[in-house]
Amino acid sequence: MTTPAPASPDLPPTDPTPVSPRTLVVSAGRPPRTPGGSLNPPVVLSSTFVSQGSPAPGEHLYGRIGTPAWEPFEQALAALERLDHATLGLPSDGPPATVFASGMAAIDAALALVPVGGRVVAPRHAYQVTLVLLRELEERGLLRLDVVDVADTEAVVAALRGADGTPAAMLWLESPTNPMLEVADVPALVAAAHDVDALVVVDSTFATPLVQRPLAHGADVVVHSVTKYLAGHSDVVLGATVADDPALHGRLVAHRTTHGAIAGPFEVWLALRGLRTLALRVERAQANAAELARRLADHAHVVEVRYPGLPGDPGHARAAAQMDGFGAIVGLRPAGGEAGADALVATVRLWVPATSLGGVESTLERRRRFATESPTVPQDLVRLSVGIEDVDDLWADLDAALTAASRTAQA
Ligand SMILES: *Cc1c(COP(=O)(O)O)cnc(C)c1O
Repeated sequence: MTTPAPASPDLPPTDPTPVSPRTLVVSAGRPPRTPGGSLNPPVVLSSTFVSQGSPAPGEHLYGRIGTPAWEPFEQALAALERLDHATLGLPSDGPPATVFASGMAAIDAALALVPVGGRVVAPRHAYQVTLVLLRELEERGLLRLDVVDVADTEAVVAALRGADGTPAAMLWLESPTNPMLEVADVPALVAAAHDVDALVVVDSTFATPLVQRPLAHGADVVVHSVTKYLAGHSDVVLGATVADDPALHGRLVAHRTTHGAIAGPFEVWLALRGLRTLALRVERAQANAAELARRLADHAHVVEVRYPGLPGDPGHARAAAQMDGFGAIVGLRPAGGEAGADALVATVRLWVPATSLGGVESTLERRRRFATESPTVPQDLVRLSVGIEDVDDLWADLDAALTAASRTAQA
């Protein structure tokens, strides 16, 4: 057996061969190959870096401005969202991804791209705290808000043009929406928004870059709650943006530096560790979700199932056309109304009653338990975040709990 020659330190920094996203989750964001070097990036805790005089481009200065603790994850996420640019090497001018302290910090930075007084068109069903923030910014006079049904393309286009002829400054999309799982026609809406010079931001948390890549449809900024699928183990709160345009990316980075919602080194390290298994986790969770949605649709104690992967779902054709899968979130309305939904959540044994989503473990919650959830979300809607457990165990638990809950609700 011959020992392979160590990788040459003067290899070009990028390899132009595109690879599958399933490979990128494993290979992107690694340190340069040097004999005896670390396979994984280290956790870098330093808050300051040796520096004097005028700093060279890319030189680290201070932990709020930029640190090697963020870059491997940012490189990996950027490679995933921009598959057309994807290479095994690292971009020499820094990745266009920006990691933040939370999904909401990333959303706050993206909303700061709206000029003062600009109009934002946003889904009436979206992550509830995004809507809380939009309303807060509206109350403070920083923007004007129009909420729309994102599945209704004509209504969104009309809102973008504006009733009084003043076009929108930003289209905020979430697709599929949280928690209603409506699917927006992303390519058509991006084109309509760009027709009126509005920026398009897509919260792609539910889909992950394996299932949907909004930049390829022309979106300007993608935001993620990294807390969910990307980190994937319910042990990290983190967010990120990706923007192809260097000027937009620069503004997002500047917002992070100035407002200070920076990510901790350990959290980013855990998120990159979680990302390594994203493809396996998403594949299993999606397969489980598809199987459970199919079985739930025929269940005697179920009123309605929402899952874009079901052929009869209103979002199915659109999702099939623009996504590489249907995700692993299922909306379920059990028999017995609100009481039936509460009884279901109280009765499951393997499923965990909990908020959040995208972890390896299956969780569920009735969304209207929160006063801030949109009033057009049905009171009995239970959001299932399907995990990677054995599907028959998940089914047995749900099936038994649905049957028991319908009895409780009737009593
Ligand atoms: C959870 C979530 C967020 C907020 O992210 P945090 O990491 O909790 O701040 C934003 N958008 C969607 C779609 C989410 O599910």
